[in-house]
Amino acid sequence: MSVGTEYVRLVEATDRILANRISCPIDIPPFQRSTVDGFAILSSDTKKATRDHHTMLDVVGKISAGKISRIRISSGKAVAIATGAKVPKGADSVIMIEDVIIENKGKKIFIPYKTNKGSNISPRGNDLRKGQILLREGTWLTAADIGLIASVGISKINVYKKIKVAVLSTGSELAEPGSNLGNASIFDSNRFMLSSMVRKHGGEPIDLGICRDQRSLIHARIMHALKFDVVLISGGSSVGEKDYVPSLINEIGKPGIIVSGIAMKPGSPTSLGIVNGKPVIVLPGYPVSAFVALYTFGLPLFYKILNTSGPPVAKQVAMLALDVKLHKGMTTFIRVRILKRRHGCFVAEPVSTTGASLLSTLAYSDGIVVAKYNNKGSQRDDMLHKGQNVEVILLRDVGTRRLNNC
Ligand code: AMP
Ligand code: MG
Repeated sequence: MSVGTEYVRLVEATDRILANRISCPIDIPPFQRSTVDGFAILSSDTKKATRDHHTMLDVVGKISAGKISRIRISSGKAVAIATGAKVPKGADSVIMIEDVIIENKGKKIFIPYKTNKGSNISPRGNDLRKGQILLREGTWLTAADIGLIASVGISKINVYKKIKVAVLSTGSELAEPGSNLGNASIFDSNRFMLSSMVRKHGGEPIDLGICRDQRSLIHARIMHALKFDVVLISGGSSVGEKDYVPSLINEIGKPGIIVSGIAMKPGSPTSLGIVNGKPVIVLPGYPVSAFVALYTFGLPLFYKILNTSGPPVAKQVAMLALDVKLHKGMTTFIRVRILKRRHGCFVAEPVSTTGASLLSTLAYSDGIVVAKYNNKGSQRDDMLHKGQNVEVILLRDVGTRRLNNC
């Protein structure tokens, strides 16, 4: 499956994925440049310079950044030079302005030490060489990458198009945020949470709204959703009386549901299907379940389509503050808060391994620990133990949680 490519300007390139490798068209820096404000000189002139016996040079001119100068440096001469300016012919070293004594209204300088060839000079091609590969296809573009592309003079780049992901909520109890909440209703949070994840991970969410638990209505909505690249449906994924989604997927096209139920907690009533070549992910209605199910199955699918290994992911190793019992035979997703202790030690405090309906447990976590149940031979263990190190997938920077009491 492929979504095609498009050219975008660099200002629109954040979090896009390169569809072609980029080679460097020129040497960077394109010329020998000074890395400091100072004086361009011949290093051999300073061979005898000491703190007691300074070398005196005549300053014959000034070169500012961006200016071309015809000055040529020969023995006994120096030229004042700005950071980033082109080093004049003949000079092989730049001495910092702070290190010399300036006299005679800037016409003479006194140098108190021996300088080396090449000091404070960035040679042509020092940063990047013409022809070298700058970034590979599939690179998830970060700010530094975008700066790098701009630094070699490229203004437009070929990236994968965003995946169009239809996002549908099902459930007669769901109300639109901003509307009046009926007696037995709850606000639809999944659609907004899932759309936000889609947007952050290479997709463009297409909002298909809320659909009541009525077979014909859901059928029509799924038919519409199948016009897009990927379909995400939350709610009605299980075996309840009104859980129409999986049977409708099977009815609409082949092969239909290919995976039904996953050994994970939360998130077990997740189903994966393909209808007429379109991937369909049926997510549980409980918000934390929907989150981890999209994280586990949706994001890798998006990365596969976009030919990328994904965005930079922040992880933190932390010491578990408590024993955690794992769900037997399942992968357990443990929400944790991270506390920073003195001596650079991080402690992960479990928030919950259940309570998938409680979105606050996710929103007030710092990250998630994904614990695989180990059922091999004598290694069998259904616990994570207090004091052991765990890898936390961070949902936010450690220490930036907004509410202290949660
Ligand atoms: P279901 O998977 O349809 O059986 O729903 C399981 C639970 O998740 C029920 O308590 C639903 O009310 C809740 N739920 C379903 N869809 C959403 C949604 N879009 N936003 C928030 N909660 C939901
Ligand atoms: Mg439902």
